[in-house]
Amino acid sequence: MRLRTASEVAVAWPTRYEVAQSWAGTGLNNPVSRFPPHERARADAAVFGREGGMATVVMKFGGTSVANVERIRNAAQHVKREVDAGNQVAVVVSAMSGATNQLVAWVREASLLHDAREYDAVVASGEQVTAGLTAIVLQSMGISARSWQGWQVPIKTNNAHGSARIAGIEAGEIKQRVAAGEVAVVTGFQGIEPERNRIATLGRGGSDTSAVALAIALEADVCDIYTDVDGVYTTDPRIVPKARRLPKVSYEEMLEMASLGSKVLQTRSVELAMVYRMRTRVLSSFMDPTAIEPVSGESWQDIGTIVCDEEEIVESQVVSGIAYAKDEAKVTILKVADKPGVAARIFGPLAEANINVDMIVQNVTPDGKSTDMTFTVQASELPRALEVLKGAKADIGYFDVKSSDDVVKISVIGIGMRSHAGVAALMFQALAEKGINIHAITTSEIKISVLIDAAYAELAVRTLHTLYGLDKD
Ligand code: ADP
Ligand code: ASP
Ligand code: MG
Repeated sequence: MRLRTASEVAVAWPTRYEVAQSWAGTGLNNPVSRFPPHERARADAAVFGREGGMATVVMKFGGTSVANVERIRNAAQHVKREVDAGNQVAVVVSAMSGATNQLVAWVREASLLHDAREYDAVVASGEQVTAGLTAIVLQSMGISARSWQGWQVPIKTNNAHGSARIAGIEAGEIKQRVAAGEVAVVTGFQGIEPERNRIATLGRGGSDTSAVALAIALEADVCDIYTDVDGVYTTDPRIVPKARRLPKVSYEEMLEMASLGSKVLQTRSVELAMVYRMRTRVLSSFMDPTAIEPVSGESWQDIGTIVCDEEEIVESQVVSGIAYAKDEAKVTILKVADKPGVAARIFGPLAEANINVDMIVQNVTPDGKSTDMTFTVQASELPRALEVLKGAKADIGYFDVKSSDDVVKISVIGIGMRSHAGVAALMFQALAEKGINIHAITTSEIKISVLIDAAYAELAVRTLHTLYGLDKD
């Protein structure tokens, strides 16, 4: 094995939890404001790290953007535009749309209970195909290109197979080659767990995270995420045709939108972008590749949506987006004793079983002696949660457990909520007027979420979209 130069030293980044720990008690509510000035400089659109206005760009193409060889040729035209402009380019590709679903289905067909390492060996293969094809197409266009699988880079992960986290990237060799003008085409969604030397995947939608992580490791000027919509919208444009594209959205709002159900970016990609101030742009690969200005051109930022610092957003609204998540399930524990320690006896065993609990509501029952406890978990974890509660029945002491996955969580998000009161009251009133019952509520500084019956999801999203003035004219 050859020795590594200083620039090849792995970038190891903290988890959001570690970041949160490091600023707890500092009195600051914005973790990233504590990052050093040179990190912030990168967010300045006018500043490019290289001489002559040349930029380093990571271009990520999602499943629909590489759905077949024709689409790959189109993606390659986008790459060509950047190369021709003198930019240094690394590409991250997803599997062809539908490919990962097919691979997951085969694994399940082989055995419902399966080894997570072998699941990863199978589902990571979709990206291997598109990376190789993209490199071949680029080469056929006279562009110097080479494909890289996660293990070849290497992109190192932890051992949580199926939803692994990136622990660091040793991007030294790619960095040198990209600087020398070769396009690196890297498989998204996958890395290698070094202890057992096994392929690990990053969870569904994980190519976004691969792209942002690679952009950080390469110290890129921007991470461009090419998808099938031309930016981040006020809500999913497939549900609300009146949704508007946001020219800019802050890291914090995007993080809430992603984690509350807007799947346009994987949540972890936004976490990384926020912590490392990696300017990230969402744009459509379906636009004419020649009609887009290359990065570092005068008005390149007018296309798509830029995820950036909140200080950069001049015209901000109180509410900037609405998200919905259909993958939660509601659990109600009937008649638990209303005394100290009960919540710990319920949520302790769930935490031990690694089941995340999201919303929690407690109601006193009419007799005043006991309470009903309602909370939500990921729908996929409902069977396990019910098992755990059954096992802990004697210890908790309750009458019965009811559950339903016919619910949806609707969230309104906006940094403007910090300085505007009454956003929640307006929301509750509007939902009440439509006869929509709220089962649970959670809030943070910049978001309010409500749990309602799934049947009302679209009505609620549309109502709130109009209510907060988000409809396009
Ligand atoms: P890719 O395959 O390129 O990664 P995804 O399907 O993962 O694409 O993400 C793009 C999709 O995200 C869009 O087609 C859109 O339906 C959905 N989406 C959800 N919420 C939003 C939003 N607020 N803005 C834009 N797209 C959204
Ligand atoms: N191909 C993977 C998936 O479908 C990763 C991605 O597309 O981001 O989840
Ligand atoms: Mg995606």
